[in-house]
Amino acid sequence: MGAFPERLSEALAQRKREGLYRHRLTLESSQGPVIRLAGRQYLNFCSNDYLGLAAHPKVIEALRGAAIEYGVGSGASHLVCGHSVPHHQLEEALAEFTGRPRALLFSSGYMANSGILTSLLQRGDYVFEDRLNHASLLDGGLHSGARFQRYRHNDVAALAAKLKTADGPKLVVVDGVFSMDGDTAPLAELSALCSAQDAWLMVHDAHGFGVMGERGVGSTEAAGLDAASVPVLMATLGKALGTAGAFVAGSELLIEGLIQQARNYIYTTALPPAVAAASLAALQLLREESWRRQYLKDLISRFRRGAQQLDLPLMASDSAIQPLLVGDAGRAVKLSEQLRGAGLLISAIRPPTVPAGTSRLRITLSAAHSEEQVDRLLEQLGACWPGA
Ligand SMILES: *Cc1c(COP(=O)(O)O)cnc(C)c1O
Repeated sequence: MGAFPERLSEALAQRKREGLYRHRLTLESSQGPVIRLAGRQYLNFCSNDYLGLAAHPKVIEALRGAAIEYGVGSGASHLVCGHSVPHHQLEEALAEFTGRPRALLFSSGYMANSGILTSLLQRGDYVFEDRLNHASLLDGGLHSGARFQRYRHNDVAALAAKLKTADGPKLVVVDGVFSMDGDTAPLAELSALCSAQDAWLMVHDAHGFGVMGERGVGSTEAAGLDAASVPVLMATLGKALGTAGAFVAGSELLIEGLIQQARNYIYTTALPPAVAAASLAALQLLREESWRRQYLKDLISRFRRGAQQLDLPLMASDSAIQPLLVGDAGRAVKLSEQLRGAGLLISAIRPPTVPAGTSRLRITLSAAHSEEQVDRLLEQLGACWPGA
C-alpha cells in the first residue's frame, strides 16, 4: 500500500475500534416529523428544521416559481454575474429583520464563518472563542493568522482575564446557542465585557435565529442587544428557516469589506436564486406565524417536564436542542439503535463532535411535531433508558 491508502485505512480501522465510525442515512422523503428510511417510517427527532419550514408548501412554491423565472444554477459567483434579484431582496429583508444596515449571503454557514474570520483578522490580532464553539468558527479562527485563544465554556471571568492581557485588535466569537448542548451564551455579560475591553463581539446564531427572541431575530434579541453591541451577527438559513445558505449582518463598512475581501464569498458560485426566493418566503412565514415559536416553546417544556419525571439526564438547555447525556460512545450508539428499532430517529453524537466521555443523544424538537409525538418519544425513552 502507498502512504495515503495506508493512512486512510488505519484511520478508518481506528474509528471502528473506538466505536466512532459514522454512517449516512439515505432518506426517501422530505424533512418533517415523520420521515422514511429504507421503506420504513420513523419519527424524526434529529433535524434542525425547528419551525417546520423545510417542506412548507409556500416555501416550495416560492422555489418552484423562482426556478421557472431564474432557472436552477446561478451561473457564477456574486461578483461575476451570479447575483440576482432574489439574492438581493433576501439580503435586504435579512438586514431589515435583524436591524442592521446591510446583510450579505454566503453559500453555507461553514464558508461564511471562515470567510468572516479570515477577512477581519490579521496576524497580530487576537481572537477569543468559547471552547464549545462550532467547528467552523474554530477552524476560521485557527486559519485567520490571529493569535487564537479558547476560553472555558461560558466562563466570562476566564475570558475577561485573557482579554486583559491582550494588546492589539480583539475579536470575541461565540455561538448564541451551542449546537450540541443546546445552552445559550451569556450574551449580555459578554457584550458588556467586550465594550469595557474594546473588543468586537461576533455572534453566530445558527440555532437561535428564528427560534429565540420575541420576534425570532435570535439570541441577540433575547439578550436585548442592539447592532452596536454585536457588530458581527451571523446565522445560517439551513436550520429554522428550513432552506440553505447563511448570512452575515452588520454595518455598511463590514459588508463592503467582506464583499471585497472574503475569499469564501468571492471565489464560489452563488446559491441558486430559487433557494434565495424560498428563503425569503420562509422568512416571511417566520415573521408572520409567531405561533410556531410559541408552540415550539410549549413542546420544549412538555418534553423537559416528562423527561424530569422519568429521571432522564437532561442538560441545561431551554432551546429546541435537548440532548441526553450518555457518556460512553458505544452506549450512545446502542441507545440510538434501540430507539430506531422502536421507530424513532435520534442521532448519537460522539467525539470528535463533542469532548470524549460526553457522548449523547441529541434530540431536537420542531414546531412540526405534535404533542402526541413528543409523548411517544418520552414513552420510548422511558422504555429504553438504562435503569429507567
Ligand atoms: C449548521 C451549523 C453551521 C454550518 O452551517 P452550514 O450552512 O450548514 O454550513 C455552523 N455553525 C453551527 C453552530 C451550525 O449549527
